[in-house]
Amino acid sequence: HLSKRLAAVAAYVPVNSRMADIGSDHAYLPVYLAKRQQISYAVAGEVVDGPFENAKTEIANQNLTERIDARLGDGVTVLKPDDNIDTIVIAGMGGTLISDILERGWQQLTGNELLVLQPNVGEYHLRKWLAAHAYQITAEQILKDDGHIYEIMVAHKVKEPFSLNELDARFGHFLLAKPNAAFVEKWQHEQQRNAHVLASLNHAANVPVAKQQELQHEQQLIEEVLQ
Ligand code: SAM
Repeated sequence: HLSKRLAAVAAYVPVNSRMADIGSDHAYLPVYLAKRQQISYAVAGEVVDGPFENAKTEIANQNLTERIDARLGDGVTVLKPDDNIDTIVIAGMGGTLISDILERGWQQLTGNELLVLQPNVGEYHLRKWLAAHAYQITAEQILKDDGHIYEIMVAHKVKEPFSLNELDARFGHFLLAKPNAAFVEKWQHEQQRNAHVLASLNHAANVPVAKQQELQHEQQLIEEVLQ
């Protein structure tokens, strides 16, 4: 049984794909996809021993060692050309770590892979990184699961790097076009948090002007978006 979050991620993995799940931990995602015949092959990558052992154990328990290969190593550097991976999932970590993993593994990427990313934080940074590295977002989702709000973004390579406008980078083009309850809740929460920080900055002796301006700027944008 997958969490609502991972089930939403799974829905973006194309049928019959050869996927890599980077930072797989228990390998729940590739196991679920393989059992449903949604993927033909998977690499479950892990950089930490404990989670790598978790992945190996789960794959063996489910009799899927022929179709899912657990590999120990950093990010996408565990991939080889003859894996013919066409879909890369990186879920459940911060947006900066996700972009670092993609950046460090640049040599391993053909540019034909579909990226399915689920950052826990740092979505703004990740969207900007994707655009700057010629990855266009083609789908996005925001959902609430077990009291937390999560975002998922799907991206593929385009010819040229481009720059995202401020609203799309912060809020997500597709999320902004059709704001749901989770979107509204996330940004109302952010608005309250910013207001709190701004109020405490007002009482501080050495107010960092740039920080204050950035927060005020974000507050203005949130206000526009939530209207
Ligand atoms: N992807 C699963 C999910 O979404 O439920 C597990 C998420 S878990 C919170 C993050 C996992 O990423 C950890 O098991 C951690 O060891 C792994 N990880 C962190 N940095 C990594 C890297 N550079 N390469 C591979 N795995 C990494």
